[in-house]
Formats: sequence, structure tokens, C-alpha cells
Amino acid sequence: MTNILILGAGYAGLRAAKVLAQKKLDAAITLVDRNRYHYETTSLPEVAAGTRRAQSILLPLPENLPAQVNFIQATVIKIDRTNKQVELADGQPLTYDYLVVALGLESENYDIPGAAENALPIVDVKSALAVKKQLETNFQNYQTSQDPDDLRVIVCGAWFSSFEFMGALVNRLPRLAEHYRVPLDKIEIQCIEAKDMILPMFDDDLTNYVKKWLADHNVILRTGMPIKEVQANKVITADQTYTASTLVWTTGVRGSHVIGDSDFEARRNRVMVSDQLSLDDDPNVFLLGDVAAVRQPGKPYPFPATGQIAFQMADAAATNIAADLNGEPRQDFVFNDLGTVLALGSKDGVAKVFGDHKLRGYAAAAMKRVIDDRSLLKQAGVKAMVKYGRLPL
Ligand SMILES: Cc1cc2nc3c(=O)[nH]c(=O)nc-3n(C[C@H](O)[C@H](O)[C@H](O)COP(=O)(O)OP(=O)(O)OC[C@H]3O[C@@H](n4cnc5c(N)ncnc54)[C@H](O)[C@@H]3O)c2cc1C
Repeated sequence: MTNILILGAGYAGLRAAKVLAQKKLDAAITLVDRNRYHYETTSLPEVAAGTRRAQSILLPLPENLPAQVNFIQATVIKIDRTNKQVELADGQPLTYDYLVVALGLESENYDIPGAAENALPIVDVKSALAVKKQLETNFQNYQTSQDPDDLRVIVCGAWFSSFEFMGALVNRLPRLAEHYRVPLDKIEIQCIEAKDMILPMFDDDLTNYVKKWLADHNVILRTGMPIKEVQANKVITADQTYTASTLVWTTGVRGSHVIGDSDFEARRNRVMVSDQLSLDDDPNVFLLGDVAAVRQPGKPYPFPATGQIAFQMADAAATNIAADLNGEPRQDFVFNDLGTVLALGSKDGVAKVFGDHKLRGYAAAAMKRVIDDRSLLKQAGVKAMVKYGRLPL
């Protein structure tokens, strides 16, 4: 029996396990994750802002896995391709015939001094909850400290998730101010970004919509200001020092450090894979999602790492593993771009979907919800949707 080992139960790993199970192969499928749940990474900004309960973006494992998939809760330390085994933090190493690496993302701090120590990232459930707690603690402290910094939030980096976090936070501010009895007009959110340009996936029209929305909601966006250093409650740029008690770090992500700690040729812990999503020199090892870089036809750089591409890569990799086991030829991966949606809270946003069709306002926010629900539906099925209150029944 062929031994298929999948590392990571995020969008890519969970989907790969599910599709492989449907193929009814003569294979043992094992899925490893450090958590006993799958989480929807794309909803983490709302959890961090406190507009969504963490519980609502979790899918418990292994109860939501197909019966053919064996689940192991463990932290992966290193991948040893020479001996075809995977080292875990606790327990015996796991061996494989086929390996699917889908260990996802980590915060990228570009070696900026003090960033890792003094600013909070939003990369998993624990870190999102830490941001929420920090915000609430500082707002509560304001009641006694009357320190304006306790009501200031600095978002470092104007990455996709920075806007989603600020959008959700703007939605929550009135309730937050009321709850902690702090003056709403003294709360200050600002975002500091190194580049002049923001949101390169959208055209000027949609980008200007986002900028105007932020300005209308008193969010200050400072672009073209590389951050030199972060200290406790301080963000230092070339010309200025900005202070706030809540510092959030969303400048971008890189792949899992496990890639860097193992024998892979990688850039920012992303490994260039073949068109069939495996390694050229080790075709039984597939890398999916944020640990992989996939050639983008006609472009000098790979596809950006998104939930959508992670999901589609999983379908393609599972199909190629099944093809190998059935003695059929593998297929090249073809990305079907369904578009990009950026939510600014629950009632606003921008989107580019179905080619160049643009959405603004409520339609975009609603589209985001549809995509999240569709992803959960595909990962977990209708029963789970009903159980987790995601169907309007
Ligand atoms: C805050 C935020 C918002 C985003 N918003 C969007 C969006 O709106 N739209 C979009 O398309 N993309 C968005 N992205 C990007 C998208 O979430 C990622 O591209 C996608 O999650 C990648 O899927 P993945 O399966 O590779 O990794 P992940 O979904 O990150 O899953 C990785 C899995 O591996 C597990 N794991 C990690 N390390 C270990 C280890 N050492 N041992 C065991 N298990 C481990 C984790 O627990 C996790 O279950 C966002 C990303 C972030 C951080």
C-alpha cells in the first residue's frame, strides 16, 4: 500500500486529503497538523479586530475528515528527503512514499530590528486573538492612564490583510468605545507602508475607493515610509517616530520555517515547483500553497500566494498523485483565477471578479462571505455548514 503523507491541514493540505480520499486509491493517507482544527486564514483579520468569534472559523479535526484519512496532531520540525522521513517535535519520525508539504505561512519582518519583539502579527488563530486582547487591554487601560497612546493603533504594512483588519476594526470601534467608555473621537488608527503603491492587484479606481473609505473613516494611510525600527510602543521611520500602545505587523508573509530548516532550495521559504507541482529532482514530493512558488505563464515572477491558488493546487496535486498510482500521465497545473475580493468590514469592500468585472461597496463584502462559505462547504460539506451556523436555515 502506498503511503501518502500530507503536512498541514490548511486550505491546501485539507483539500488534498479530501480529494485523495475521494479517489479510492490503494493508499494510506495521513494528515499531520499541529492543531486539532483547520482554520480559515482569510478570516483571521476579523478575529483580530474582534468582529468575529475565533470558534466560527475553526473546523475541528479529525471528525470532519473522510474516514480514509488518518489524522496525527504533531508539530513538524524538519523534512529529511534523503531518508524519506519527517521529523516531529514529539514522537517517532513519519515515513512516506509521497509527501505533500502544505505548511503555510509565517509573518515576514524583513529583519527590521524590534519588529518581531514589539509588534503583533496576524498569521494564525493564536496571534489573531493576541491582537484582539492587546487592543481591549489598552482600551481598558485608558480609563485610568488617560494616555492617548492607549487609544492609538499602528498597522505596520499596507498588505491585503492590513486593510481587512482596519476595515473590521473600524466597524467595531463604536461598540468598543462604548464598552470601555472611551471617547470614540480620540481613537486613532494609522497604517505605515514602505512602498508608494498599495494593493497592486487592483487598478487605480478600486485602490482610490479603498483610500477614500479609509480617509472617510479617519484612518491615516502613510505610504512611502519604510520602517527602520520598532520599539515598545514606537514605530520609527527615517523622518518620524510614531507612538501607539497597539502595534500590529502585517507587512507580508513568507513560507514556513520548516522549509528553511530542511534541504530545499527556497526563497523566503517558498520552493519553486514544476508545472505538475512537485520537485523536478524528487517528483514524489509536492509543495502546495504558501510554501510553493508556481511559474506564472508569461510572467517573470510566480503567482502570488493566496487561499484560492492553494485550494486549486491541492486539487491538481491530488489528481497527479492518483494518476501516478493508476499508471496515467500527470497533468500540468492550470490556475483558474476567480478574482480578488477585499472586504472593508462587513458592509463594504472592493473586488475584481470574473475577469475584469469590478465590485464596490456592499456587493464586494457580500462576495467575500460567499467565497468563505464556499470554501468551507468544499472542505467540510453541508452538514458542517449547518452545524457551524454558516447556512441561513
Ligand atoms: C491574515 C491573512 C489574511 C488573508 N486573507 C486572504 C484573502 O482574503 N484571500 C486570499 O485568497 N488569501 C488570503 N490570505 C492568504 C491565504 O490565507 C494563504 O495563501 C493560504 O492560507 C495558504 O494556504 P496553505 O494551505 O498553504 O496554508 P495555511 O492555510 O496557512 O495552512 C497551513 C497549515 O499548516 C499547519 N502548520 C504550520 N506549521 C506547522 C508545523 N510546523 N507542524 C504542523 N502543522 C503546521 C497550520 O496549523 C495550518 O493548519 C491571507 C493570509 C493572512 C495571513
